[in-house]
Amino acid sequence: MKRIYEPAAYAAEPGVYWHGTVTSPDWPRLSHDLRTDVAVIGGGFTGLVAALRLAQDGVGVVLLEAETPGFGASTRNGGFCCLGGSKAPHGLLRRRFGEDGAAAWYATEKAAVATVAALLQDHRIDADTHSEGETLLAHTPRAMAALRAEARTVPELYGVDPTLIEAGDMRAHGLGGPFHGALTTPIGFALNPAKYHAGLAAAAGAAGVALYAHTPVTRIDRQGATTRLCTPDGTVTADRVILATNGYSSDDLPPWLRARYLPVQSSVLMTRPLTAAEQEAQGWTSAQMAYDTRTLLHYFRKLPDGRFLFGIRGGLTATPRAQSAINRKIRADFHTMFPAWREVEVTHQWSGLVCLMANLTPFAGPVPGHPGLFGGLGYHGNGVAMGSHTGALLAALVQGKTPDGPYPPAMQAPPARFPLGRFRRSLLAPAYAAAALLDR
Ligand SMILES: Cc1cc2nc3c(=O)[nH]c(=O)nc-3n(C[C@H](O)[C@H](O)[C@H](O)COP(=O)(O)OP(=O)(O)OC[C@H]3O[C@@H](n4cnc5c(N)ncnc54)[C@H](O)[C@@H]3O)c2cc1C
Repeated sequence: MKRIYEPAAYAAEPGVYWHGTVTSPDWPRLSHDLRTDVAVIGGGFTGLVAALRLAQDGVGVVLLEAETPGFGASTRNGGFCCLGGSKAPHGLLRRRFGEDGAAAWYATEKAAVATVAALLQDHRIDADTHSEGETLLAHTPRAMAALRAEARTVPELYGVDPTLIEAGDMRAHGLGGPFHGALTTPIGFALNPAKYHAGLAAAAGAAGVALYAHTPVTRIDRQGATTRLCTPDGTVTADRVILATNGYSSDDLPPWLRARYLPVQSSVLMTRPLTAAEQEAQGWTSAQMAYDTRTLLHYFRKLPDGRFLFGIRGGLTATPRAQSAINRKIRADFHTMFPAWREVEVTHQWSGLVCLMANLTPFAGPVPGHPGLFGGLGYHGNGVAMGSHTGALLAALVQGKTPDGPYPPAMQAPPARFPLGRFRRSLLAPAYAAAALLDR
């Protein structure tokens, strides 16, 4: 596999808190040749939801995961099931897709959250949900002025009424910290991503999906009207194939993907449960999932049992030295933002890969020039909801059906290539430096 980071970025993460909260599904390794209607590559939210929906429609499905079930970002994330998935600002969406196309994108963000809520309910998945929508925290007075303006657009874009919280009222809302006000949009909730993933995996298995782990696809070959996937100990021949590898993709699987996605690290720490007194001391008692207005944003939330999760954008390299630097940075940022918790033990710390696109919007659809091959990726760090929704879209598309949920033009545009090919991650250094300046 041709990948653009050091091998450590693609290695197992022993420190993920979520992994200890579930019994990991036990999928066998593929050790024979198979024939199926649809093969799915990648066992995260995108692949699992696609496979589940297909099996529910009576389609034969085989899912192949290179590592352990949920190895990628799907069981490493912050569990924000929220709006998002694109980095394109409103003006750009409008210019590229028109007023209706932009509106269709916002409807999709909202529908994606509903997709997850319905999956949790339909499959009786208890994923420790909490938070009434999402809360955006202003890191400067100027950012608060922007939030006041944003509050006026929320009803039009999402059809809900947001709540503005001025600086003086933050403590009363349990949002104590270096913030200049907040905007809560009542869409979305937080969840334990490993419990959601395990619930999806159980539902997919029960619906008839053949799930395989430790089975990397190493080649994709077109053979007449079918596609043959090679893995170390077996092949899968399928009428249709779904590529659901997101930030863990390879530039040669298939070669079309080369430079069309940009993995970026994100890192998280988790504390032990905070006592009520510790929460009061900081003034943060809220159960809201929250993030700040910085471009290089911080995201955080208090779990139902009082643990505190705090995340940042990760490093540019995945060497042990770079990882140590990120571990120090995330603690430093956490202590700066929540000084009352300096002495609180951090029990877990981990990283994973999210996926950016040159178009700034995710992709879901047929891969150009590859009959029978479909792809879904590029959620810009917001794939709990959007990855799940993309899986549902792909399940319909591979069957030649019109998707039930919104499928906006923004997701249909084939991904463009980043400049610099396999060296494209060097684009991140100047982008991060510029963002850090803007964030002051
Ligand atoms: C630290 C962190 C925090 C995040 N926080 C949030 C958050 O709070 N909210 C949110 O919405 N999003 C968040 N995200 C992003 C979100 O987790 C992802 O967008 C989402 O999980 C993507 O799901 P996926 O199924 O497309 O990809 P993944 O879950 O990454 O799965 C891809 C899978 O493909 C497999 N694979 C790759 N190549 C092959 C191959 N050749 N053969 C077989 N299998 C292969 C990989 O092993 C991997 O398991 C976060 C991500 C990280 C890393």
